[in-house]
Amino acid sequence: MNCIFCKIIKKEIPAGIVFENKDIIAFKDVNPIAPVHVLVIPKKHIISVADASDDDVLLMGKLIMVAKKIAEDLKISNKGYKLLVRVGKGGGQEVGHLHLHLLGGAYNV
Ligand code: 5GP
Ligand code: ZN
Repeated sequence: MNCIFCKIIKKEIPAGIVFENKDIIAFKDVNPIAPVHVLVIPKKHIISVADASDDDVLLMGKLIMVAKKIAEDLKISNKGYKLLVRVGKGGGQEVGHLHLHLLGGAYNV
């Protein structure tokens, strides 16, 4: 499968990894649009929210809880931050592996 995020999971291409456990990995966006811009992704290759199933309910919740933990670790939690998930082409999704954007440290995004 030619998925750039699966390659990051397998450490075939480098990324600034900030969190990893058995289900989830999080790394710095290569083209940040905010001072803090981290992508939180499931290790399971799910194309988008539209492709998630009932089997993925717990995993979807874990993504948000990991984002919350990273925001606390990076000390942006008090000021607040944005969690963004684009779904499909019409939603502006460019990478076909479900990901949650954690955006913080700026108010103009
Ligand atoms: P989308 O538009 O699909 O919601 O967001 C995809 C994000 O992935 C973009 O913000 C883009 O900068 C980021 N991205 C794309 N390729 C890579 C990569 O190879 N490494 C990293 N760290 N981020 C990437
Ligand atoms: Zn993938």
